[in-house]
Amino acid sequence: ARDQVVRAQKLEAVGQLSGGIAHDFNNILTTIIGSAHLAGLDADEGSDLAGEIEQIDIAARRAQNLVRELLTFARREPGQLKAVDLSEIAREVTRLMRASMPPTIKLNCARSAPVVVLGDPTHLHQIVMNLCRNALEAIGADDGIITVSFSSVDTPTGLPQRDGGWVQLQVHDNGSGMSEETRSHLFEPFFTTKPLGKGSGLGLAVVYGLVQDMGGQISVDSQRGDGSCFSILLPGSSEQALSEAKARGDLPRGSE
Ligand code: ADP
Ligand code: MG
Repeated sequence: ARDQVVRAQKLEAVGQLSGGIAHDFNNILTTIIGSAHLAGLDADEGSDLAGEIEQIDIAARRAQNLVRELLTFARREPGQLKAVDLSEIAREVTRLMRASMPPTIKLNCARSAPVVVLGDPTHLHQIVMNLCRNALEAIGADDGIITVSFSSVDTPTGLPQRDGGWVQLQVHDNGSGMSEETRSHLFEPFFTTKPLGKGSGLGLAVVYGLVQDMGGQISVDSQRGDGSCFSILLPGSSEQALSEAKARGDLPRGSE
């Protein structure tokens, strides 16, 4: 109960912050980035000055990402539930991520037939993206493998039986794993073990909220030094519902 109070207080703090300053802050950062760019035009290529200006740009962009995460977190749209192919969304995410990944890390997305769930496509995109990003960061500079997989579960414990069944999404990595201490704070807003400027501690709080909104469940299996596996249960739907949704023009994001 105390955890819930702390969580609610943090959520309220985020809400106030976003309402008050996050938006203005974003505008300020845009000015900083713009001015740094202009200053960079006058600096000699390869000079110390050009290097310093680039640092300003990098730091300001990091701050902008953080503000963006705060805004998404605080002003979470309710989302629209419809039949979507989760494997299509996951492939889209993995394709995007591979473009900026070191070649030492493999990102596999198991898939054959469509995996239809009842969810909001933009939110599902965010869920898969946040989990894969964490997996990538847990592997760091080492070799590693991230695997995204799906399976169907008829009646998971703790969830009601439904006609469409349940779909389980798993994101597995062989990265650092986590301590029990970390595991117990995982979904709290602002909880991070990453250095300042690297982690916001909002990724999993966002995932947790979105999964709740869809009526699903999230769990994690992880040991320090032994990698992690995040499992998410989401309400399933039928391929027929998927083709009906597509016929209405409800295409998942990125497939237009
Ligand atoms: P952030 O990534 O900004 O730190 P998150 O909410 O995404 O915030 O994650 C919170 C913390 O949970 C991370 O700082 C890390 O300690 C831990 N964590 C999340 N995913 C993993 C993972 N796949 N492997 C190991 N630790 C993880
Ligand atoms: Mg994260």
